[in-house]
Amino acid sequence: RAKATRRGSHVVFEAAIRQELEHRLTLEGELALAADRGEFELFYQPQVHLIDGSLVGAEALIRWRHPVRGYVSPAEFMPVVNTSALSERIAKWVMETACRQARAWELSGNDVRVAINLSPSQLQSGDLAHSVAALLDETGLTPSLLEIEVTEDILLHDERRVLEMFKRIQELGVRILFDDFGTGYASLSYLKKFPLDGLKIDRSFVFGLLSNSDDAAIVGSTIGLSKQLGLTVVAEGIENRATADLLVSMGCEEGQGYFFGRPMPAEAFEKQFLAELATVSAA
Ligand code: C2E
Ligand code: MG
Ligand code: MG
Ligand code: MG
Repeated sequence: RAKATRRGSHVVFEAAIRQELEHRLTLEGELALAADRGEFELFYQPQVHLIDGSLVGAEALIRWRHPVRGYVSPAEFMPVVNTSALSERIAKWVMETACRQARAWELSGNDVRVAINLSPSQLQSGDLAHSVAALLDETGLTPSLLEIEVTEDILLHDERRVLEMFKRIQELGVRILFDDFGTGYASLSYLKKFPLDGLKIDRSFVFGLLSNSDDAAIVGSTIGLSKQLGLTVVAEGIENRATADLLVSMGCEEGQGYFFGRPMPAEAFEKQFLAELATVSAA
């Protein structure tokens, strides 16, 4: 009896794996088609000075505008992209789109620092420093208006290679930040070793800031650490005024979150945050 049950569950397990694989292959195929058809878009979320709410930059966040399902979240499809042949192609598209947008805003008199996200697999492929240099050259974007967000997982890869690459990117004048700080493969010694410009405090710690003393301790120490190391610190996931105020009192100067603005299409971002541009184009 026990044997029969085991065999039975084995069959169920196999079916589940097969289904998962089929789902993955379907999604991979759909994503390749989506890239061909230009169904990806970048949304922009404002990043502000917490004290006065003035705009400092924007994080570019990818969306898939599916013809039937509407906007699909990156949480759903980026894990598949990251382990597929599409990874490098999407990274290139994100970099190009964000740089062109940032340059257009710069030319309109709005210096908006645009941050892009690159996953470890995207940092592995090709010569990123070279691509970034070529792109800056081609668009004419001021290098300090481009920021690259990487997760700590990048440190699981060839450390020397990553270190060299970061150095070359920084020498161009492009800034590099650790995203989701405190949630990944972290060792404080890396902060000393790696050429970094800043840290982003993960939203999971910011959500609980007002009610959870552990979260408050983690956020407080991250801010202190950043300051002592001369790094910029950006808090993400700020959903209300009280959280923003508390972050200010803890010494955090920059942040982003639904309280200040959700990720939105470029045109909506311009209308809402780049008042000057709206006046110029309306004139
Ligand atoms: P992330 O880089 O940590 O981006 C911040 C995420 O937090 C975004 O989710 C943003 O919409 C969300 N967020 C911001 N403020 C708030 C808030 O106040 N409340 C809540 N509940 N959420 C907030 P999104 O856009 O769904 O992106 C999820 C993740 O997907 C990103 O996390 C990033 O890891 C990845 N991702 C997004 N775009 C790209 C991309 O172009 N390339 C790569 N490689 N990864 C991307
Ligand atoms: Mg990010
Ligand atoms: Mg983040
Ligand atoms: Mg995060």
